[in-house]
Amino acid sequence: MLKYTALIALGSNLSEPVAQVQRAIDCLKKHNAIDIIASSRLYRTAPVGYLDQPDFINAAVQIETTLEPMLLLQLLNQVEADFGRERTFQNAPRTLDLDIIDYAGQIWNTERLTLPHPRAHERGFVLMPLHDIVPNVYLGEKGSVADLLAQVDVSDIECLHDVM
Ligand code: ADP
Ligand code: MG
Repeated sequence: MLKYTALIALGSNLSEPVAQVQRAIDCLKKHNAIDIIASSRLYRTAPVGYLDQPDFINAAVQIETTLEPMLLLQLLNQVEADFGRERTFQNAPRTLDLDIIDYAGQIWNTERLTLPHPRAHERGFVLMPLHDIVPNVYLGEKGSVADLLAQVDVSDIECLHDVM
């Protein structure tokens, strides 16, 4: 029984990022404790924060899972490591980033896990993919995905219509 619904954001900007993101979604799909309910299109995004690095490919998926939030985070961190992710500095280039944006509407404020994701509401590269799959979902009390998306700059984000 897969009973909790969660939203995962994916990002990559190294080593053929389109393939990295597609492989990561396939990897989640194969996991026994995870069902993919919906997948967004892929988006190409200019880097934010540290600018001297390649463009990112971003996507989002809605899943159902039996894993509790911390176990889900551990699994996502393991998948990142399997994909060759090295942690260097904040906003550094990465082969794969997997963030939990929402987990069944729960609120968490621990050192390792903050839910809903603290920066998702202000990130076009998270909100654009989410809007494909869950435009009406609320991210905490900050507003629905559609409302939040209307308030951010998405001029540097391009949808890759043909790749999925
Ligand atoms: P970022 O995703 O912000 O670029 P990292 O992927 O390196 O940075 O994550 C840094 C830390 O963020 C991780 O060690 C993880 O424990 C923590 N974290 C807190 N909340 C979340 C969340 N909702 N999803 C993913 N990671 C989270
Ligand atoms: Mg992350």
